[in-house]
Amino acid sequence: MLRETLEILRCPYCGGRLELVGALHHRADDRAIEEGILGCHCCVFPVVSGIPVLHLQPAAVEAREHIEQGRPDLALRVMNGVIDLAQAEIVERTAASGRSTYRELVDALGPAFEGGYFLYRFSDPTFVVADAVVRSVGRVVLGGRARALDVCGGSGHLTRSLVGLSSPAPVLADLFFPKIWLARRFTVPGCEAVCCDGNAPLPFARGVFGLALCSDAFQYIWTKRQFIGEMARVVDHKAGAVLISHTHNQLAWSASHGQPLSPAGYRDLFETLEPRVFGEGGLFEDVVSGGPLDLSRRDRPDVVDRDPALTVVAPAPGIASEVWRPHAIDPPGTASGCVTAVKGRWRINPLYVASADGDGLRLRLTFPTADYEDEYGACRRYLPEDAAIDHAGLAALEAGRLTPALADLVRQRVVLDLPERYY
Ligand SMILES: [Zn+2]
Repeated sequence: MLRETLEILRCPYCGGRLELVGALHHRADDRAIEEGILGCHCCVFPVVSGIPVLHLQPAAVEAREHIEQGRPDLALRVMNGVIDLAQAEIVERTAASGRSTYRELVDALGPAFEGGYFLYRFSDPTFVVADAVVRSVGRVVLGGRARALDVCGGSGHLTRSLVGLSSPAPVLADLFFPKIWLARRFTVPGCEAVCCDGNAPLPFARGVFGLALCSDAFQYIWTKRQFIGEMARVVDHKAGAVLISHTHNQLAWSASHGQPLSPAGYRDLFETLEPRVFGEGGLFEDVVSGGPLDLSRRDRPDVVDRDPALTVVAPAPGIASEVWRPHAIDPPGTASGCVTAVKGRWRINPLYVASADGDGLRLRLTFPTADYEDEYGACRRYLPEDAAIDHAGLAALEAGRLTPALADLVRQRVVLDLPERYY
């Protein structure tokens, strides 16, 4: 973590500033802190592998003790949930190799981790909608002059969408340490990561973000009222916005339901901002048709009530009129977060199985499991059944160039901008 990030961090329990405890074991320079102990008025917290761990769950307490004893390797094992010695050696060997991929590290962390769908995340319908909403709202409230916060952001897939818009670099927060550890290595190198609990007050100062985002996680937060109060507190009250994308709807069943509220329930959580609740279905149609993403719409109550997934946008009053309008959608691969802005690479979408065809490849859309198809089959609306890449296209792809034919495949999301060493 950068030392300057301490300026925006606060203890979740006393609200006090955090400082590196110089008398205890630490590894830091003038610019960044790799490991050490942070202290406030009430507690001490560890920094593990450049990530401040700002909660007091048992693993965090144990990790803090390891850091104090000068054993950052053991602290990292505890935070990554790696208990078995043989597994720890595999994880550490994989992590130490400069050539290992995100997928290999996920595999090393164990079969219970991530489930496997992360591989397909960048083209699933939930991501595609959230990406368009995040970029549209982000252009208004961040515009390269304010900072974004992605809470419960997991491995940072959407945080990556904010890299070109957030200045300084976005902050990714999640309770599950291995996800943000992987994000800093692969998905969003350069982001700041904070390990914290979404059911506790957020460990940030008031008004320091332009955008506070939570995607595909809010239905699992129990303390919803506190969470929204905290999201509203940490954004700029004059020019910021809170965005809850893809949260489930109590009135419509969905897979991995969580503890969702009704649309009216979500609206009532906001005390200081005026939210609008959108059905994800309408936003999805906007994205599939190539845009614009129409945030001037007011979805009818019956439409919102029957949509299994909702998006809640709550801008500060001063910028609301800039948010409540149609927004042009960046075609895939052209946005500020693509290969040119974040270190990424053009790769064939892993949902396609390739077979040799002359000296090129024939690609066929193939779902990994029936469950995946059930949950994300709407991607058929933009992913073609079949595609092909000729020899010249393959050579260009390998060299990181786009030919006109490849650019078409990027538009169709058959070729994706993926993080370096993703799989
Ligand atoms: Zn404190």
